[in-house]
Amino acid sequence: MTPVWLGERPVIPGKIVCIGRNYAAHAEELGNPVPDEMVVFCKPASAVGDRLISHSGGETLHYEGEICLMMGEQGTVRGAGFGLDLTRRGLQSELKAKGLPWERAKAFDGAALFSRFAEVDALPCQLDLVLEVNGEARQHGGTESMLYPPARIIEEIRGFMSLQPGDIVMTGTPSGVGEVRPGDRFHGRVLTEGRILAEGRWTAT
Ligand code: ZN
Repeated sequence: MTPVWLGERPVIPGKIVCIGRNYAAHAEELGNPVPDEMVVFCKPASAVGDRLISHSGGETLHYEGEICLMMGEQGTVRGAGFGLDLTRRGLQSELKAKGLPWERAKAFDGAALFSRFAEVDALPCQLDLVLEVNGEARQHGGTESMLYPPARIIEEIRGFMSLQPGDIVMTGTPSGVGEVRPGDRFHGRVLTEGRILAEGRWTAT
């Protein structure tokens, strides 16, 4: 298993809980209705990769940059980081059309990449993300434009599923998703009040 780093400590998350369609503009770009209930799915810990792959199962992957939280005890947050939710969009569309689960499109090995998580004492009240690909800004988002902000996400998940220390919550992606091409250089940052909390750099293979 590939660990995720919280400061200097390696952590194997028990699970990765992901929120879908948490930004209205991204739901629109994929032609999805804005949901009347929070969309939740999971990636297994085995999905964590240590390099950015551009293909899986013969399909070009799509990137989704996301603000990510690492959980502590009792629903507290102890880390904030940047994550890439890698997706087989074509397969996901087929599965969606058939009303089938998304795991084949989102839970494969290497489908989740994370920057090092910055240790935090509590959930920062404001978080923003910026993703640049080859030096060009592709995605901007933040807690202010989320349909479900982090505190609400955690509360709602915990209403039906325990969150254990080390579990990761991926809070959804803003608009600007696209294909990963070999050689593309990704630079993702998570900021609070204009200060960089965490950042990750990957070159796609
Ligand atoms: Zn996502």
